[in-house]
This record gives sequence, C-alpha cells and structure tokens, in this order.
Amino acid sequence: MIPRIRFAHLPTPIEPMPRLEKALNGPHLLVKRDDQTGLAFGGNKTRKLEFLVAEAQAAGADTLISAGALQSNHCRQTAAAAAKFGFECILVLVGEPPAQASANLLLDQLFGAKIIWAVKNQRDALLTDTFDKLLAQGHKPYLVPYGGSNSTGALGYVFAMEEFMGQGVKSDWVIFASSSGGTHAGLVLGAHLFNYFGRVLGISIDEPQAVLQRRVATLASETSVRMGPHIEFAPDQVLVNADYATPGYGILTDVERESIQLFAKYEGLLLDPVYTGRSAAGLLDLIRKGFFKKEETILFWHTGGQPALFAEKYQRELA
Ligand SMILES: *Cc1c(COP(=O)(O)O)cnc(C)c1O
Repeated sequence: MIPRIRFAHLPTPIEPMPRLEKALNGPHLLVKRDDQTGLAFGGNKTRKLEFLVAEAQAAGADTLISAGALQSNHCRQTAAAAAKFGFECILVLVGEPPAQASANLLLDQLFGAKIIWAVKNQRDALLTDTFDKLLAQGHKPYLVPYGGSNSTGALGYVFAMEEFMGQGVKSDWVIFASSSGGTHAGLVLGAHLFNYFGRVLGISIDEPQAVLQRRVATLASETSVRMGPHIEFAPDQVLVNADYATPGYGILTDVERESIQLFAKYEGLLLDPVYTGRSAAGLLDLIRKGFFKKEETILFWHTGGQPALFAEKYQRELA
C-alpha cells in the first residue's frame, strides 16, 4: 500500500466549454477542474501533497520545508497542508520581502509558515542549510521537493489519470501546464498504466523542450516502480511544446492576457497569470494554427493557481 491521506476534493469535475469552442470555431473543448481540488483554493499540488504529507507523517516528521518563487502555489498549498496536519512549515522563497504581502505570500503568512528569503542561485544551498540546522536542533524536517515533483508527488497524477479514465469521458488530447514535471510524469505513467489512448501534451512554462522531456521521462520511469514493475520512458515518448516558454517564468505577455480574458469572458472561468494562462495561450494558438482536427476533443487540465491573480504585480498588469 502506498501511504496516502485523502483530503483532496475528488473526483474533480469535467465540464464542456461550448462558448469558447464556438468563439474559436475550434475542436470540442473540455476542462478538468483541478483548480477545485480543495486545500487553500486548490490546484495541482493538492494531489501531490496527499502522498507527500503521508510520507512525512510516516517518517515522524515535525516540519515541512520547501522552496519556490515568491508567488509559489506549491508553497501556499504546502503551508496549508502543514497547518492542517500539525507540522511547522518553513519556506525558502526567491526574492525580497515586499512592503505589502499579497496573494500567495499573504496566504503563506496566514498559514503560519516561516519564510526565509533567498537570491535565486543560493536557494538550494539555503534549503539544505535550513534542513541541516533543524536536524541539529533535534527537529525532524521533511523536505517537500521543488514543485512537489519527485516520485512520491507524481503519484498524485498517476491516480488522477486513473480517476479521469473512470469518468468515462473521451478526449483525444490532454493539455496542461508543465514546469517542474511532476504533473506531467504522473499523467504519462498513468496514461500507460490505465490505457489512455489519447495524447498527453505538456505546454512548457519555463523550460526548453529537451530539458523537460528528459526530466519527465526520468521521473515517470522512477515513479513506475512505486506502482509495479519498472517501466523505462524515453524522452521522445514525452510530448512537450516549449513554444510559449520564451518570455520566462512569471512574465505576463499579451498572449497570456488574451487567454485569461477569453476564458473569463466566454466561460466564466479563471486562469492564472503564470501557468494556466500560458498553457491556455498555447492551446489557443495551436487551435488557430489548425494543429487539431475539428472533430477531435481536447481536454484542458486546469492546474489552478488563481490566487496569483491578486498579486499586486499581476493586478496592475491585468487591470
Ligand atoms: C506547479 C504548477 C504547475 C506545474 O506543475 P508541475 O508539476 O510543477 O509541472 C501548473 N499549474 C499550476 C497552477 C501550478 O501551481
């Protein structure tokens, strides 16, 4: 038995997007609402944390530590999970403390996380340092990996694929935002194990195609042994489109602004400025280029992230 604590709101619904589909004159469009997984506004990290928190508990840990960007969804949800299950939480965030905490950072504080500020190239050293210090003080820290993306976290998306198959909804493509690779690796492995015959396409948020393909293939292969016999995935079995990653992480451009506006205007659906806005911009571009056949069904797997809409920086850029 793989240790798991069930707290996510599952299964997440799958909904049609008829008005967006019509506006684009595109293929059939569905959305899987993993922005509604529960735990502090939800998002894809909830599924990963069901397994990561269970592992931390089993190890007798008293503190969760993790790292991320200033507006990290992963850190917000890790802090919430720590609060819910009675762990201390320490977050190493890249950046400088703003005069006014907003959005995810404000939530980190409400959940009682202790924040350590880092410059980017010292992030990992500071994380190790923090971990070692806690050990030396007699604590039992548990390191939640960056983005929750190791073979434990990826299990969340292996079972998400099983859940999706059980919902009996046919789709030719599954499309989503991919960055640290745990979501992608879980879906790739799950597709293999649970016989999903459509294609699993990750839109890279911030990594070159080859880098992400290698990372996801390695992680999917590692995760396979948690589920049964080892399966080796090759990088070229992993579908990545990195055409939209060029501006860099967290940089809002016109295409993200457009996708956020279109989803809002036609479906009353909220995307986030960093991940789902960019992956949806990729989806819109691929539809307009005729990449999909008109009779195909595309499932956009919404990974959450909307609290970042209320980060001061993005409010200014979106208003
Ligand atoms: C973390 C995150 C992703 C990327 O998932 P990975 O498993 O890190 O690739 C996508 N969308 C949102 C909203 C996220 O917070």
